[in-house]
Amino acid sequence: MNNDMKRGTWMEKENVDVLIKNLADRNIEGYWFEDFAAAKTKIMNMISVSESVGIGNSITLKNMELSFELSKRGNLVFDKTLAKNKEEIRALKRKALLSDWYITGTNAISMDGHIVNMDHSGNRVAAMLYGPNHVIVVIGINKVTKTLDEAIYRVRNIASPKNAKRAGMNPPCVDLEQCVDCKSPERVCNNLVIIEGQNDKKRMKVFIVNENNGF
Ligand code: SF4
Repeated sequence: MNNDMKRGTWMEKENVDVLIKNLADRNIEGYWFEDFAAAKTKIMNMISVSESVGIGNSITLKNMELSFELSKRGNLVFDKTLAKNKEEIRALKRKALLSDWYITGTNAISMDGHIVNMDHSGNRVAAMLYGPNHVIVVIGINKVTKTLDEAIYRVRNIASPKNAKRAGMNPPCVDLEQCVDCKSPERVCNNLVIIEGQNDKKRMKVFIVNENNGF
C-alpha cells in the first residue's frame, strides 16, 4: 500500500466489521480491500465480458482506470466522461440507467451504513436507486464518517466545493471552502440522496478500500 494514501487510525479492523455488519442489516453487501488494485481485480472478476456497465462520474473510478480496462476487454461501457459533446453525455447517462451493472463512487458513508450522495443533475443517484441490476459503490476510507450528521457535513462542505471546482463551476463555496446553501446559477448541489437500504439483497455492494481516494 502507498503509505501516503493511508488514513488516520480510527478505522480499525473492528470498525470495519461493524460497518460491514451495519450494511448487511440494510441488505447491502460490504467488502473490505487493502488497496484499490485488489478492489479492481474483484470488480473485473465479478462482471462478465458480455454484460454492460454504466459508470458514475468519480475521481476514485478515474484513478482506477475502470472504464478503460472494461472497454479494453470487450465490455459495453457507458461513461459520460468519455463523451465528445453534450448530446453524447445525455445519451450515455440514459443508457447507463439500464445497464447490467452500475459502478460509482459516493460522497460519504457513515458507520451505521448510510450512503450519502450529492448530485448535480441526478443521473448518478438515479442509477444507484433503480435501474441497473447490480450496483457497486467504491469508496476510500477517507469518506467513512462516524455519524450520518458528519457524512452530510462532509458532503456539503468538503466534497461539493471540490466537485464544483473540478467541474469548472464557481459557486461561493469554491472560494469559501464551505457550503453557504447558495442560490448561485452555478450551484452543483441539487440532489441530496441518502441510501438507507436495499429491497433486493443481492443488488448493491459497497467496496470499502483501506486507502484514500477522491474527495
Ligand atoms: S449549495 Fe452552493 S455553496 Fe453549498 S456546496 Fe453546493 S454549490 Fe457550494
